[in-house]
Amino acid sequence: MSDPISEVVREAEEFLAAHWSPGVDPNEWRALVIDHRWAALRWPSQWFGRDLSDDDAKIVEDVFREAGAPGPGQDIGNLWAGTMLSYGSDELKAQFIRPLLLDEVAMCLLYSEPGAGSDLAGIRTTAVRDGDEWVVNGQKVWTSGARDADYGMLIARTDWDQPKHRGITFFWLPMRQDGVEVRPLRQATGDARFNEVFITDARVPDSNRLGDLNKGWWVLQTALAYERLVMGVSRRSGPAKGPVGATAAAHGSIPTPDIVLTKLAREVGKVDDIAIRQRLMRLHCKRVVNDLNTERAKAVAKAGGSSPLASLGKLAMAMILHEAGHLEGELLGMSATLNGDAFPRERDHNYSQLNAYFFSIGGGTDQIQRNIIGERILGLPKEPEVDREVPFREVRGNAAAKV
Ligand SMILES: Cc1cc2nc3c(=O)[nH]c(=O)nc-3n(C[C@H](O)[C@H](O)[C@H](O)COP(=O)(O)OP(=O)(O)OC[C@H]3O[C@@H](n4cnc5c(N)ncnc54)[C@H](O)[C@@H]3O)c2cc1C
Repeated sequence: MSDPISEVVREAEEFLAAHWSPGVDPNEWRALVIDHRWAALRWPSQWFGRDLSDDDAKIVEDVFREAGAPGPGQDIGNLWAGTMLSYGSDELKAQFIRPLLLDEVAMCLLYSEPGAGSDLAGIRTTAVRDGDEWVVNGQKVWTSGARDADYGMLIARTDWDQPKHRGITFFWLPMRQDGVEVRPLRQATGDARFNEVFITDARVPDSNRLGDLNKGWWVLQTALAYERLVMGVSRRSGPAKGPVGATAAAHGSIPTPDIVLTKLAREVGKVDDIAIRQRLMRLHCKRVVNDLNTERAKAVAKAGGSSPLASLGKLAMAMILHEAGHLEGELLGMSATLNGDAFPRERDHNYSQLNAYFFSIGGGTDQIQRNIIGERILGLPKEPEVDREVPFREVRGNAAAKV
């Protein structure tokens, strides 16, 4: 074995033999993996990677997986660092990439607004240039993790005279400043993980801009593709550990419901029921096919590109989780109607059934994923969009905006 990938595999094996044991301190291990350039194999060597092709990266990831060692996969699974790698200046990369890989910087996504969710290009939060800084005003909503965030990935309108997709800029907004007020929102699950964010004369240096002025829409597409990719991956096939998409991370890890439910079917004595077995098998097949599809999406997305295939995986995962929720209810029978800490299994069932809606809405709704799949994968005609080429200021409802 002397071809380049064999060399890397040998190096990985030596690294694992020298440093890995299941009892190792997780934070120390994480830092070791990052600093020895195993965390993001497809990335350039300058930024903690090894410039590996997707196929070669998988070979090395398997070496870690077989050893039971977490760590690789952040090149696909870390949306913050991935977006920064793709669009940040070298100064921003030097400041943020390592802390992001280490999960030392808390982040949130400042995209959705009360009047702009599915139609994100309709945002009205505005940034106006003031010397070396931008002054930001507006309101965001459904912002997961905003209360603890150090920075937010913000889309703001910087030119009202361009059509809606073309006047948006992407910023790395410091959250801990007077102009940023975060108010929690209560969810159906009982959690209050997402928030309203009111932004009043908040400041962001121009050096914290990702991508070019008024080209933020294209930065956003990369960031969204990362998020959807992460939301389409079940835990078994996904990155071993590490930050996943903001919303996914904020709402718990992504399960392999077929395996969890097979265990439950055994526990409740229904594993020999033919109808249950069929449904478990159907769920299993869908999950496995989706994992394979996600591998395709990863291969296309490689290091930082965006792929509409990620929408397929996210949509499928949402459907799988809804189906799993129904099946789990049937397995539990009447006790599924119980709730509260005295009934942990039933409580968790109720939570995950409600939380399945997060996958159908967060990161773009199921309907929007279908639109993307129709237009960008199947080549169907685009939806009519009458305001697409109109200067944003002239779009109905915006004419009175004083910007
Ligand atoms: C748990 C959770 C966490 C979230 N976290 C974040 C976050 O961290 N940051 C952030 O910015 N946002 C976040 N969101 C917001 C999420 O991205 C939006 O809720 C989502 O994009 C939908 O936008 P909306 O709520 O404005 O609904 P709308 O866009 O008003 O949609 C309402 C309904 O109309 C449908 N619809 C709209 N347009 C079309 C169309 N063209 N074709 C077909 N159907 C259409 C939608 O599918 C939906 O069913 C989160 C949402 C949830 C549920």
